[in-house]
Amino acid sequence: MPIYEYICKECDNEFEELVFSQDATVVCPKCGSEKTEKLMSACAVKTDGGGLNLDALQDSGCGSGGG
Ligand SMILES: [Zn+2]
Repeated sequence: MPIYEYICKECDNEFEELVFSQDATVVCPKCGSEKTEKLMSACAVKTDGGGLNLDALQDSGCGSGGG
């Protein structure tokens, strides 16, 4: 399913939203603001500075997998 990560520019709240259309307006579930911005880190893995975590990548279900 197309789940994207968003951040609210109003209250800096990060949340995930199911998006079926790129033109859809995503509203912050916390404050109700429409000033949201899609994050491009949907498949990125945050590390603690120790390099890429392949186990986390596979566990996230991103990339290949027959989707
Ligand atoms: Zn907000």
